[in-house]
Amino acid sequence: MVCRYGDDLRSMVNQVKQYTKEGNVANYIPALSLADPADVAVSIYDGKDTCFSEGNHYQLFTLQSISKVLTLALALMDHGREIVFSKVGMEPTGDPFNSISKLESNIPSKPLNPMINAGALAVSSLIKGNSNEGKLKRLLNLVRELSGNNQININKEVAKSEFESANLNRALSYFMKQHGIITSDVDELLDFYTKQCAIEVNCEDLAKIGYALAHQGEHPSDKYSVIPAEIARLVKTFMVTCGMYNASGEFAIRVGIPAKSGVSGGIVGAVPGSIGIGIYGPALDEKGNSIAGMKLLELLASRYHLSIF
Ligand code: GLN
Repeated sequence: MVCRYGDDLRSMVNQVKQYTKEGNVANYIPALSLADPADVAVSIYDGKDTCFSEGNHYQLFTLQSISKVLTLALALMDHGREIVFSKVGMEPTGDPFNSISKLESNIPSKPLNPMINAGALAVSSLIKGNSNEGKLKRLLNLVRELSGNNQININKEVAKSEFESANLNRALSYFMKQHGIITSDVDELLDFYTKQCAIEVNCEDLAKIGYALAHQGEHPSDKYSVIPAEIARLVKTFMVTCGMYNASGEFAIRVGIPAKSGVSGGIVGAVPGSIGIGIYGPALDEKGNSIAGMKLLELLASRYHLSIF
């Protein structure tokens, strides 16, 4: 089949492979340290039947922080802007994703945005449902609809591994509980949060989720509305300002695509009105972003003029 991206993708993936040697896989969540640091894969979805992919794009990996985009959308659908943004702000931090420092210095104490761990924990505590099981079912349904893949599930081993080692996230949660930002039981919240982070996808799933976000929250093939357009817009704006943690500014300059990364090495990209991009490259830079994945996005953005700016 003749494909617009085929040969280009192959040469770009080959070009960025060398950068994987400069990064490291995340090991603060023990289960993530099992990833192969040399892996690089990409899928592009343009709304047709096929995804254009290169590298090991069937490799499954967990969403980690990419899930923050999806829980934010769900919380906004559950409660609307006023309630959600009474618990979490809209400003980038310039700090690492798991930093606690601004929680203490900000008055009134409220996490600065939903893409850092503190903000995501506050958002996750808002998801409607009688039990964690019910909440996770709702979140999984959303992820399955946005990706058009009903097989998507939670990797229980990764969730357990994070739950057992999530002392920093527990600290953030206890701090927020003390200040009335969250009211839920901290271990219950951590159980939900670590499972949302452990939702397992491949590059094609991510590309389709990116496509849905890029197209006003519509189902990637059936085109009905999964997320209201206004919420898809809002989520993409956070991806631009905060999606790559404290590298978001440089990423906007170099790449200019609304994107969200996770410490598993995944990156979802949503080019408004155009393609969705899913990337996997578990070797991370010191800020926790896929080192080859970011280079690949830079090449793609320049080759296909994808910057929104
Ligand atoms: N589950 C991870 C954590 O809370 C997600 C962080 C990330 O992907 N940046 O530490």
